[in-house]
Amino acid sequence: MERTRPPSVSRVLEEPQARQLVASHGQALVTGAVRAAIAAVRAGGGAADPARIAADAAAILARANRSALRPVWNMTGTILHTNLGRALLSDGAIAAASAAMARPVALEYDLAEGGRGERDAALSGLLEELTGTEGSLLVNNNAAAVMLVLAGLAKGREVIVSRGELIEIGGAFRLPAIMEAAGAMLREVGTTNRTHLKDYAEAIGPETALILKVHPSNYRIEGFTSDVPAGDLAALARQHGVPLVNDLGSGTLRDLAPLGLPSEPTVAEAVAEGADLVTFSGDKLLGGPQAGFVVGRQDLIDRLKRHPMKRAMRLDKVRLAALEVTLREYRQGRDNPTWWALQRPVAEIAAAGERLLPQVAALLPAGFAVSLRDNSAQVGSGAAPTATLPSIALAISGGPLEELAAALRALDEPVIGRISHGSLLLDLRCLPPAQEGAFLAALASLPSAL
Ligand SMILES: *Cc1c(COP(=O)(O)O)cnc(C)c1O
Repeated sequence: MERTRPPSVSRVLEEPQARQLVASHGQALVTGAVRAAIAAVRAGGGAADPARIAADAAAILARANRSALRPVWNMTGTILHTNLGRALLSDGAIAAASAAMARPVALEYDLAEGGRGERDAALSGLLEELTGTEGSLLVNNNAAAVMLVLAGLAKGREVIVSRGELIEIGGAFRLPAIMEAAGAMLREVGTTNRTHLKDYAEAIGPETALILKVHPSNYRIEGFTSDVPAGDLAALARQHGVPLVNDLGSGTLRDLAPLGLPSEPTVAEAVAEGADLVTFSGDKLLGGPQAGFVVGRQDLIDRLKRHPMKRAMRLDKVRLAALEVTLREYRQGRDNPTWWALQRPVAEIAAAGERLLPQVAALLPAGFAVSLRDNSAQVGSGAAPTATLPSIALAISGGPLEELAAALRALDEPVIGRISHGSLLLDLRCLPPAQEGAFLAALASLPSAL
C-alpha cells in the first residue's frame, strides 16, 4: 500500500494550533518542531494529517520546554537526598527569599549609619544565640567552609588529622585533595580504627597550623576502635596554642536522640567542647538553603573574612534571606520541613498509605499490583549514616519494574522511588498530606500499559 506523503512545513504552519504555537513560542522554534514531527511521520511513525502533525509539534515543544530542574516527588525514603537538592525550605524562608529576589535589601548596608555594612552581619546575632559563638561567617557550602579555613589558616603548614577521619564525602571532596587544593600539608596520625591523644600530641610541632577533627558523616568504623573526644583534643590544642577546627558536616542545632537516632553533638555542644572553629552545612539537618557556616573565635573569623577566597565563596542575598528566617524559626521552636519529615510518626505515614493505596492501584499500568510495606527511611546527606527511621512504602510489583521506574521518571512531575527485593518502593515519609492530591494527579498521566 502506498503511503500518503506528509504535508509541507508551510501547510502545517497554517493549522490553527500551529498558529497558536507561533504566537507563544516564536516562528523559529515552531518551524523546527514541525520539521521534527514531519520527519517522525516519514520515518514511519504517525499519520500524515496536518492537524495531527501540528499536535505532534506541540508535544515536541512541550517536552523541549520541560525544565531539567522541574520538581520531582522524593519517594526514596531519604529525607535529605543530595541528588534531589537536600532540604526543602519553610514557607517563611521561601517568602523571605522571594522578597529578596524582587526587591533591594540592606545586604551590605548599615541602616543605622547610612553607610557600608557587613554582608554576614544579619545572621551573626542569631548564630551567636543558637550556637554560643562570638564570630561567624557564611560561604557557599560546607566544602567551601573547610577549604577557606584550610587556605586561610594553614597554607604552607601542617594540619593534623586522624587516619580514621580522612573522609571522602562524594565526588572530588576527599580530605587529602581539599588539603592539597588549599595548599596545606596533611599530617596523618593514628590508624584507621584507633587514634589516641598521644598520637596528636607527638605530631604537634612548629609547622602545625591547626588540628582538624572531621565528623564521620557517611560511614562508621566499628569494632576495636577509639577516637579522641573533642574536649580532650581542645585541651591539647590550647596547651600548644594551635587552633582546633571541628568539621561537623551536617551540624544539627537540635539533639537527634528524641528521634531515636544516635546522638550527635549539636553545633552548640561542639563549640562548648572547646573547638576554636566549627564548620557545618546549611542544607543538611539545619534545613535551610545550600550554605556553609564557620563559627567560633572572632579573631580567626576576622582573618578568614579578609581572605580573598571569602569573596569568591560568598552567599547571595537570596540565600542569606532564607537562612535568616530558617535560623529565626529555630529560635521560635518551629519545625522546618526537614524536621517535620524526621519527626513524622509512623502511624501517620501508615494512615497516608491506607488513603493512597486504592487510588494508586487504579492509576498503575495494567498488570501491576500495589500493597503497603514497612520500610526504612534514612536522614541522608551524611547524618546518622547507619541509622534508620521506621516508615511505610507503597510496594509495587507484578510487571517489569525497571520499565515502571522509567515511566515514573518520565512523568511531567517525575516520581523517584527505589527498587528493592522485587518491588518498586515509593516511601511515603516525605509526602506531606496536603500534597497527596497533587501526587496522585502526577501519577494520572502514567500510560495504561507498559
Ligand atoms: C557534607 C559534608 C561536607 C560538605 O558539605 P557541603 O555543604 O555538602 O559542601 C563536609 N564535611 C563533612 C563532614 C560533611 O558531612
